[in-house]
Amino acid sequence: TDIKELLLSRIRDVQDYPEPGVLFKDITPLLADPAAFTALTDTLAERCVAAGATKVVGLEARGFILGAPVAVRAGLGFIPVRKAGKLPGATLAQAYDLEYGSAEIEVHAEDLTAEDRVMIVDDVLATGGTAEAAVHLVRRAGAEVAGVSVLMELGFLPGRERLEPALEGAPLDAL
Ligand code: IMP
Repeated sequence: TDIKELLLSRIRDVQDYPEPGVLFKDITPLLADPAAFTALTDTLAERCVAAGATKVVGLEARGFILGAPVAVRAGLGFIPVRKAGKLPGATLAQAYDLEYGSAEIEVHAEDLTAEDRVMIVDDVLATGGTAEAAVHLVRRAGAEVAGVSVLMELGFLPGRERLEPALEGAPLDAL
């Protein structure tokens, strides 16, 4: 579609970043273009509404940049999922494996309840580890997962395969 072409044209490929052999998808040109950023925000917000979401969870850090305007547009609250040690209140933490080592993300426990249906938003799905951990975190907080919405999934990595079992039928939408 026209929107997909517009968005794709505003994503920059950076070779060997952040380390040799990695192809990094840089969304800063898209953020700098108000037509593209608005089209992306509106499309993701429509998906949140269609999925019956009550909250938007954004994953640090680019998931904050995308998730916050999506939440406002959809009329929903925004909940940040942060890297360990950044949130001041009582948190739930979820560790997950990286290619080398591990990482941990956290959410404020009181931000989600059993009444919530959560749309998880991020820019890029790569190995799927971050989004999978976020799905577990949302469920452990007592809320339901409405789905995962990303701008882009890297089709040359098995992120979808990793994430789908954790989603238990909830949709993974990549624009
Ligand atoms: P994953 O856990 O391997 O799926 O990595 C996804 C996380 O890393 C997301 O929070 C992304 O923002 C970030 N990420 C991984 N690869 C890229 C990329 O090529 N461009 C931008 N962000 C990326």
